[in-house]
Amino acid sequence: MAKTTKKIKTIKVNADKCNGCRTCEIVCSGFHSEPKYSAINPAASRIHVTTHRLKNIWLPVFAGEYTPAECNGRDKYIIDGKEYDECSFCRAACPSRDLFKEPDSGLPLKCDMCEGNETGPLCVEWCLNDVLVYEEREEEVDEEIMMNEMEVGLDALITKYGLDRIETAVSRMSKRS
Ligand code: SF4
Ligand code: SF4
Repeated sequence: MAKTTKKIKTIKVNADKCNGCRTCEIVCSGFHSEPKYSAINPAASRIHVTTHRLKNIWLPVFAGEYTPAECNGRDKYIIDGKEYDECSFCRAACPSRDLFKEPDSGLPLKCDMCEGNETGPLCVEWCLNDVLVYEEREEEVDEEIMMNEMEVGLDALITKYGLDRIETAVSRMSKRS
């Protein structure tokens, strides 16, 4: 099977340093507004910070893949005596919550690492507490498997939202870069 090189981009999260200021949500929503920086709306951000002052919980989570189905089993986590809600660590845009969905259209949002921004991910740049650390590495993957993964994701989106809405969203995104 043909191999190809895939660039893996990650953001490491040191939640212990987070103070819940939510600057990351503000810059993310501003960068992705249309036109750029025309609006600030944390509900449209691709990073969400769970804030629970009484429990001293501050947890940034990035928007990941869209999933058309709710999961069956959910887990509670207790870390250092702090209890996190069932969906706190989940990155999926799924039917069970409004998180990681564009407020106007309802279309799922996914962190794109601020594609097109010359200085890289803006949430990393603007987090003054060094909670977020950007990392890059290369991995060799099977070309066919990579294409299959992309097709499965696209099919699920088209089934749920219809081809017209997906085309409109893609055309809007392509004008941003
Ligand atoms: S900008 Fe940094 S410190 Fe502020 S909420 Fe986001 S991750 Fe936490
Ligand atoms: S890397 Fe960019 S798109 Fe992803 S959460 Fe941070 S600001 Fe938003």
